[in-house]
Amino acid sequence: MGTQKPIQRTFDERCEYVSSVLQDAGNRLTKSRREAIRVLCSADAPMSIQDLHEEVVRTASSDLSTQYRLMNELQRLDLVKAVEMRGQPNPGYVVHLPGESNDLLVCTKCGQYAWLEEAAEIRRLEERIAKKMKFGKLSHELRLNGVCEPCQETPDPA
Ligand SMILES: [Zn+2]
Repeated sequence: MGTQKPIQRTFDERCEYVSSVLQDAGNRLTKSRREAIRVLCSADAPMSIQDLHEEVVRTASSDLSTQYRLMNELQRLDLVKAVEMRGQPNPGYVVHLPGESNDLLVCTKCGQYAWLEEAAEIRRLEERIAKKMKFGKLSHELRLNGVCEPCQETPDPA
């Protein structure tokens, strides 16, 4: 129903969820894939494929094309979302699982992000719009841009 709270999962639960969906889709869970999932689930900013690759090769042997294939598969399975980052040529990726909030808050300076928990007002807005515009099955993806607290304290480069 419209008033359901977004699901909150722990780090381990998210890794576990991503791993099991990948496996159910016929993917082998190699050491480098396991590591990539761990890195993505623990990232506090959207990660480019290049960044992900650099993290993974610290502990598992892998190559960049493996990371591209993994990311395509994760997107196909609806486990990650691409986030356009200001001033960056490539999108960053964030883990986003079914039932989790679609409302993203992103720091435009450092990329730190959070999925917003409470979206009751937005759901109410959706219901109002659905009624007014005679639309059914409304859904939304909200992205709020801002500057996080640590970045507020850092002066802009001149
Ligand atoms: Zn920031």
